[in-house]
Amino acid sequence: MNRKFNFCAGPAALPEAVLARAQSELLDWHGEGLSVMEMSHRSEEFVSIAEEAEKNFRELMGISDDYAVLFLQGGATQQFSAVPLNLLAGKNSANYVNTGQWSKKAIQEAGKYCNVNVVASSEEQNFSCIPAFDSWAIDEQAAYLHYTPNETIGGVEFFWEPDVSMPVVADMSSTILSRPIDIEKFDLIYAGAQKNIGPSGLTLVIVRKSLLGQASKMTPSMLDYQVQAKAGSMSNTPPAYAWYMAGLVFEWIKEQGGLSAMEALNKRKAEKLYGFVDGHSFYANPVEIASRSRMNVPFTLADSSLDKAFLQGADGIGLLNLKGHRSVGGMRASIYNAVPEAAVDALIAYMDEFASEHA
Ligand SMILES: *Cc1c(COP(=O)(O)O)cnc(C)c1O
Repeated sequence: MNRKFNFCAGPAALPEAVLARAQSELLDWHGEGLSVMEMSHRSEEFVSIAEEAEKNFRELMGISDDYAVLFLQGGATQQFSAVPLNLLAGKNSANYVNTGQWSKKAIQEAGKYCNVNVVASSEEQNFSCIPAFDSWAIDEQAAYLHYTPNETIGGVEFFWEPDVSMPVVADMSSTILSRPIDIEKFDLIYAGAQKNIGPSGLTLVIVRKSLLGQASKMTPSMLDYQVQAKAGSMSNTPPAYAWYMAGLVFEWIKEQGGLSAMEALNKRKAEKLYGFVDGHSFYANPVEIASRSRMNVPFTLADSSLDKAFLQGADGIGLLNLKGHRSVGGMRASIYNAVPEAAVDALIAYMDEFASEHA
């Protein structure tokens, strides 16, 4: 076996211990004589897996009974439609903050259902910062405020929450479980699983129960949060194996010491990498210091004609998937929970060596 360091933005690295446990349970889960992939989702065995996963997720995130937790399909992208369909509640506008490519996609989709009021945008700054809260032009009549706490492509992260008098909706796909958050500041959180939760094919939604039951009449049942909450996320066959894998990841995070421990580790990893980039004239990161993502670190080389050689060399020593998003160029190191500190150390050593060779 030769596992390499994987810096992919998503689907992303999974903890090796989780993969090993899944492997050991693959053919015969807990002596039941079958794989989780082959179980009825209504069986006692799978229901226990599903309930245990939800219990651990609630515990890690500090989610009270005021919220429903849904295990859905369709990715975060499906939620770009589900959110307006469920939350407009007869209103015809919603507030959206535009801080990057994922915000833009959410805005575009919401525009099919309502007037989107873009309260603030950093597009003119090439998404290198977060517009100051006191500059946001919030429509007080709108149904909700949507924002993207971590922009996976631009590497921009909020370390504060907007304080508004309407439901707050957050696309936490690439920051969820990376640090503790105050759930009460949010009314709806959604996240595709393939960054910090588990394999792709699963989407988690945390929704305040008081917001259920207001979906527009044309909402497909599969996207109706109330329908899914009543059915325990099983109004059809759920993504059972991904749900099981997410459960193993939640257990692994608990073993690591929970979200405070994750935060300490993630902070250390990010500070090391940004520190190196800032201290080296060969590399640069364009994001304002206060809003630099702890999960996704984009960086450029002083000479972009060396990008290809950089990536080839990295690949050659087992540092995978460092190519930046096509819309940004350069490099991007995604350093989610499951990417060990040793991976960051190896990356920095390689970057140092590459710069000395080419400077
Ligand atoms: C990855 C990502 C998405 C898209 O997720 P899918 O599950 O592929 O639909 C949306 N928003 C953010 C912030 C992401 O990181």
